[in-house]
Amino acid sequence: MNNDYITFTIEEKKGIALIAHDNEKPKLIAWCRENVDVLKKHRLYGTGTTSKMIVDATGLSIRAFNSGPLGGDQQIGAKIVEGQIDFVIFFSDPLTAQPHDPDVKALMRIAQVYDIPMAINKATADFMIQSRLMDAKYDHEVINFKKNVEDRAGTL
Ligand code: PGA
Repeated sequence: MNNDYITFTIEEKKGIALIAHDNEKPKLIAWCRENVDVLKKHRLYGTGTTSKMIVDATGLSIRAFNSGPLGGDQQIGAKIVEGQIDFVIFFSDPLTAQPHDPDVKALMRIAQVYDIPMAINKATADFMIQSRLMDAKYDHEVINFKKNVEDRAGTL
């Protein structure tokens, strides 16, 4: 592969973001309870309300950002760009309009750009958390942002 891409590593200990829209919060809390032994091995992050509810229900330690509609999804996106978050569980609500829909789309897009595993429903989250890769390092190819900037600055 040419140097348009660089190899990033998702370490054994992952930076996991936990987010749920309001109607999906009970489902995510139950999922966290079921998977507490796996989750506690990783660094956990989340949007404000989701984090507080999971902490209260499970005792897990979570770094909470702002509430989603107040910029929490964007903060999580920024941590993906900075390399601190490399795994996202986002139980989004497919049946209710969200005021921060552009932020949700932006988070999904940046997860795609950085090739981050992202579950948007429980079944995907179950498959992800039961993967043998949860306890392994995982190398993946991510766009070489330094080269990208140099190329663009040189040609635009
Ligand atoms: P919340 O945000 O955890 O603060 O409710 C989640 C979201 O709606 O993105």
